[in-house]
Amino acid sequence: MERRNDAAPANVVWHAASVTRERRERLNGHHAIVVWFTGLSGAGKSTIAHAVEEALHREGRRTFVFDGDNVRHGLCADLGFSADDRRENLRRVGEMSRLFIEAGVIALTAFISPYRDDRERVRAIVGADNLREVYVKCPLDVCESRDVKGMYRRARAGEIREFTGISSPYEPPEAPDLEVDTSVLSLAECVERVLQLIEPAIAFGPAGEAST
Ligand code: ADP
Repeated sequence: MERRNDAAPANVVWHAASVTRERRERLNGHHAIVVWFTGLSGAGKSTIAHAVEEALHREGRRTFVFDGDNVRHGLCADLGFSADDRRENLRRVGEMSRLFIEAGVIALTAFISPYRDDRERVRAIVGADNLREVYVKCPLDVCESRDVKGMYRRARAGEIREFTGISSPYEPPEAPDLEVDTSVLSLAECVERVLQLIEPAIAFGPAGEAST
């Protein structure tokens, strides 16, 4: 896919690849897609994303999980948690996800991504057809009681500023492709529902065609 950017320096030239997304998908035996998990910290995004990846990988699918914490150690290590930095964080992840789509991979992203606008921007970068949004829903008090990384306790103690759900807003998706409530469903049930969402998007049609 060609994607020129007017903001890129004039001496930067887009190189067309002869190995295309379609050819990579044909080699992989499935289509590429981005599965975008959003929800509060501790809702279960990472746990579900990795469990879904495990299931897909066992079936021979090409996958990759972008985990919020891991990305912030490298690609986005220079960014904080202000609204502007969160936007830039997600823009980079959106661009990276788009490259993974071109690489023919099923990319699973686990970011709080609290702002609707930012998620819409990611959808525009990746392309709506290439993205499925999964709202990992869980009441704040349940996330807080899990307190997987001790972050809620620290946020309540005022040690972490701009913590989503405590001192920074979370805007739930209005029309996600899937909603899983991890306070009600088991992990296995959540994984099953995500797999049911993904399967039709990655499967080749009856003719075995590889184009989306
Ligand atoms: P997030 O990535 O959203 O911050 P994590 O996946 O790191 O959240 O943590 C979620 C916690 O909730 C884990 O300790 C996980 O074992 C637990 N949990 C309980 N029920 C579920 C479920 N149905 N789906 C996912 N995680 C669950």
